Amino acid sequence: MEKRTEISDLGEFGLIDHLTRNFEIYNASTIIGVGDDAAVIDHFGKQTVVTTDLLIEGIHFDLSYTPLKHLGYKSVIVNLSDVYAMNAQPTQITVSIGISNRFSVEALDEFYEGIYAACKKYKVDLVGGDTSSSGKGFIISVTALGEVAPDKFVQRSTAQQGDLICVSGDVGGAFLGLTLLEREKAIYMQSPGVQPDLEGEDYIVGKLLMPEARKDIIAFFEKNNITPTSMQDVSDGLSSEILHITKKSNLGCMIFEEKLPIHEKSRMAAYKFNLDPTACALSGGEDYELIFTLKQEDYEKITLNEDIAVIGYTTAPEEGTRIKTKGGNLYDITAQGWNAFKG
Ligand code: ADP
Ligand code: MG
Repeated sequence: MEKRTEISDLGEFGLIDHLTRNFEIYNASTIIGVGDDAAVIDHFGKQTVVTTDLLIEGIHFDLSYTPLKHLGYKSVIVNLSDVYAMNAQPTQITVSIGISNRFSVEALDEFYEGIYAACKKYKVDLVGGDTSSSGKGFIISVTALGEVAPDKFVQRSTAQQGDLICVSGDVGGAFLGLTLLEREKAIYMQSPGVQPDLEGEDYIVGKLLMPEARKDIIAFFEKNNITPTSMQDVSDGLSSEILHITKKSNLGCMIFEEKLPIHEKSRMAAYKFNLDPTACALSGGEDYELIFTLKQEDYEKITLNEDIAVIGYTTAPEEGTRIKTKGGNLYDITAQGWNAFKG
């Protein structure tokens, strides 16, 4: 049998020491990390961005199909994604957890392995957190700090009329991964003997359980001297993010269905589940891609990057927020995707 260490064997301080023992410091801005009343961070003349996310068992994740290591990794990624979406570089995180005695120290070790892997990959420093008991569910709160050169941050509200609307990577995959895992879970609940059939679905399952933050896109902007006119990450679903940018920038838009970046594996999964791939791309969440707008003169520069798709352009607000289908029909974009009943 696997070893199980009770949290009570270590005590709160022993547990914190144990969980944070291997973390390294990557950033010169980290003056004081874990171990004092507060962390001390000095961004040396840069501006600081801060973002935080709360993840609650049963609401944001389901431990019956989410390995703890993946959950730790993803808890960090969702925050780093918000930092990159400001055109900033993440430098520090804090991790707070609410845990019950349902969890062993070994289970928390797995969770922290995921956190460690994300810190190492993205070169961010874990500088603190909090540890508390919770009734039953697992509660995770991660805060990320980042730095950006003075006034180089990019907001949602600053898109201009006639800008190109771009998306990194591909969208809809995480939603299809979730659909698959939920479906397999329902089958398992009915007949526990049946093994889940995830054959050939690594891509969409990976998109859900092991997302990455688009550090590479921010690096590409810097290298090619591109500053998006507006940007945000795609966490709720592409259509809802498009509406955030257009609303906050007081603009309309024209999106082209044929330009939406949908991975072949996502498309195939959608057909298998009898879903419309376009609807999945527009309304599915948790892609953690970046959506941004660019001045038209930057078009040549972004054609260098195969991982950026131009999906449309911004218009005057009176023109509304619309999508043109492959068949040439125009529909209004709604937060849920598109309104096929109101042409
Ligand atoms: P305080 O009494 O000031 O809340 P704690 O005893 O909770 O301090 O924490 C001691 C140190 O350990 C602090 O630096 C805190 O940020 C850090 N810490 C506490 N819990 C965690 C955690 N789950 N992950 C990482 N660091 C933590
Ligand atoms: Mg504390």
